[in-house]
Amino acid sequence: MKIKTAQDYLKSLRKLNHTVYYKGKKIKDVTRHPATAPHVRAAAVTYALANDPEYKDLATAVSHLTGKIISRFTHVHQNVEDLIKKVKLLRVLGQKTGSCFQRCVGLDGINAVYSVAFEIDQKHKTDYLERFKKWLIMIQEENYMVVGAMTDPKGDRSKGPAQQFDPDQYLHIAERREDGLVIRGAKLHMTGGVNSHEILIMPTTAMDEKSKDYALVCAIPANAPGVTMIFGRQANDNRKENRERIDAGNPVFGGVGGEAVIAFENVFVPWDRVFMNGETEFTGLLVYRFAAHHRANYGGCKTGLIDVLTGAVAYLTQIQGTEKASHVRDKITEMIHLGETLYSSSIACAAEGCPTPSGAYMVDTMLANVGKQNVTRFHFEVARLAADLAGGFLATLPSEYDLKSEDVGGLVKKYFSGVAHLPVEDRIKIGRLIESMTGGTALVESMHGAGSPQAQRVMILREGELDKKMKLAKALAGIPPTREK
Ligand code: SF4
Ligand code: FE
Repeated sequence: MKIKTAQDYLKSLRKLNHTVYYKGKKIKDVTRHPATAPHVRAAAVTYALANDPEYKDLATAVSHLTGKIISRFTHVHQNVEDLIKKVKLLRVLGQKTGSCFQRCVGLDGINAVYSVAFEIDQKHKTDYLERFKKWLIMIQEENYMVVGAMTDPKGDRSKGPAQQFDPDQYLHIAERREDGLVIRGAKLHMTGGVNSHEILIMPTTAMDEKSKDYALVCAIPANAPGVTMIFGRQANDNRKENRERIDAGNPVFGGVGGEAVIAFENVFVPWDRVFMNGETEFTGLLVYRFAAHHRANYGGCKTGLIDVLTGAVAYLTQIQGTEKASHVRDKITEMIHLGETLYSSSIACAAEGCPTPSGAYMVDTMLANVGKQNVTRFHFEVARLAADLAGGFLATLPSEYDLKSEDVGGLVKKYFSGVAHLPVEDRIKIGRLIESMTGGTALVESMHGAGSPQAQRVMILREGELDKKMKLAKALAGIPPTREK
């Protein structure tokens, strides 16, 4: 692995020289700009953990392609143990960053593309998997961070890709050349986009025969000519920009993933980086596998965040002198219960994983969808309980400037103190941490990351085997199994 440490990772990003805009201006160095730096630092922990003897086993794996030790974030799952280790790794990273560390999207893309490329080759006698392996070995050796780019803007949602007024609403092949493809369009909500080395492009949805130009999988470097990124605004970004450490809540790592728009304006992709080119019948399978892998993550990373939030609330109740009240203990119990319930689904879908025809392991899709669906509710419920226990002071809390003011700092300290033996600064810091983890963009990720709740419900009903369930009921009720509606 060429990029070994967190510092190596930061250095590699400084050399990347890719095009990133924020608030209308170009960012020269994403590792130092206060809007992007916290997210970079969160992703950097994925590198740091691989060197930590305590977590090395979770954070690294043996490449099935080269036999070398690689980051787990570049690994193709070879068995159930790999799937389980991924969930455990994500929980630890969530605990250590209290944030999204972004690198999982590329990992899930790698696993989905690997297994589907194998199946396309079987049917069409293509050589996508060989090309993909070559690219993946490069990623493993360099230890690059990959952004998995799936979500298209989609324009008029009542129309498919080929019927759009503006064809660029779905990323597509604009030109086929002898030496490769030229692509145009955009991807939205790209978690970790501005601090990844490579972009792995995948179709956003199942495509029909008319949409061959949209059935595209390929990889391009983040600094390829024609690639422009625009980093999104987030709640409280001014606090980060002004380096208000206390008011930022989670000053080192931010609080959410750091999403970006990535625009592709006539970007050239050589053939050896193309892994699907018009095989529309495989687009649905690719989206299905990617989504299941990514949904499986949420009981890992979000449970890690819930661990932090529960700890923050528990300490705050000590500062406020409410920790022994029975309703407080009950609500904290509920927060723990909800977090562990999410974790159970992720572990379960990994434990029930099985091999795809390529040999790469796949999670149980029903359990992954159920787990992610629960995240869209339970994380909000945990946030509600946190706000309930924290109390109204979060809405009134004056700024760090007031806290440090010679004129009013004394008043802030006096009237925001809790029990006498714990410092008032702790109450303010913990309050801001809770605020940053429960408000604004932090929860949007839980709702819409890896697909909106409706996307999981579609899969849950589709895979729910209602016919089988009706047969069970009929058998017990003494109704002939052959009776139809
Ligand atoms: Fe990884 Fe997605 Fe969780 Fe972020 S939200 S830590 S990218 S699984
Ligand atoms: Fe996500």
